[in-house]
Amino acid sequence: MKTDCIDLHCHSTASDGTFSPTQVVKLAADRGLSALSLTDHDTIAGIDEAAAAAQAAGIDFLPGIEISAEFPHPATLHLLGYGIDPKSAKLRNLTDTLLAGRDNRNPKIIARLQELNVSITMDEVEQQAGGNVIGRPHIAAILMRKGYVSSIKQAFDKYLAPGGLAYFDKERLSPPLAIDMIRQSGGIAVLAHPSQLRTQNDAQLETILKNLIDLGLQGIEVIHSDHDQAWVTKCIALARRYNLLQTGGSDFHGTNKKDIDLGLAHGRTIPREFYLALINRLCSIRIENSQ
Ligand code: AMP
Ligand code: FE
Ligand code: FE
Ligand code: ZN
Repeated sequence: MKTDCIDLHCHSTASDGTFSPTQVVKLAADRGLSALSLTDHDTIAGIDEAAAAAQAAGIDFLPGIEISAEFPHPATLHLLGYGIDPKSAKLRNLTDTLLAGRDNRNPKIIARLQELNVSITMDEVEQQAGGNVIGRPHIAAILMRKGYVSSIKQAFDKYLAPGGLAYFDKERLSPPLAIDMIRQSGGIAVLAHPSQLRTQNDAQLETILKNLIDLGLQGIEVIHSDHDQAWVTKCIALARRYNLLQTGGSDFHGTNKKDIDLGLAHGRTIPREFYLALINRLCSIRIENSQ
């Protein structure tokens, strides 16, 4: 039965999830979700398949993407782009740039692992990834399968996370460029999981948010698997204060993040109103642009 619950943040095999786009959509339908956005890292390769599966399953679908922007370590600044036009040349330009950043970084990680006497090759990693977007979770899966670590988390802690033995950063877009490219691709830019900014206090969080709004940010992810009640409350207050769209999602990655289930974020469901507000805003943008 379809419910008023949705999920606006999840990953498929097109990036670092373990479910194909069709499988993610089927799971959404099984969970009774009435709308879904697929937000793979740096790619829209799964969008067409997911859209077709959503149509077959009778649930609403919104194209999405998640991109990492430059931000001081160990914090991360991720931006979600909702309603991006899969046919946009600007979007193609964006994903090509992001993929180049990965393609520069991944061989460095593999070379370092080989120096550490870990048996792993780029061919294996490419095979593990299946698609163009090769991420650290794919490398982590191989390390686990070969017995070098006992969990994905341990692979990150020991090798792949900042401070790990084989950590290398990838080139990222600056926040202004990332937001601009999302908007030029027809999308709405939303700050993903603000808790991962690891701000020291509320004032610092608000300052960062205000800067992003000045750059064109239009929404904030209030419900997320990393957000406890205090974070949800804080983000809703900020959304109201700055007239931002509110979004929410689980950040489902299949078995790459075993404790996250589709449609649930820290025990919360995500209301359909979030999806409807995004659609309304996208309609207004399209009307403005056509005038
Ligand atoms: P990459 O996109 O290749 O830089 O890898 C980043 C992805 O790795 C994130 O989107 C997460 O899915 C995953 N990730 C990052 N840190 C961790 C961690 N400590 N444990 C498990 N997964 C992680
Ligand atoms: Fe991921
Ligand atoms: Fe993220
Ligand atoms: Zn994500």
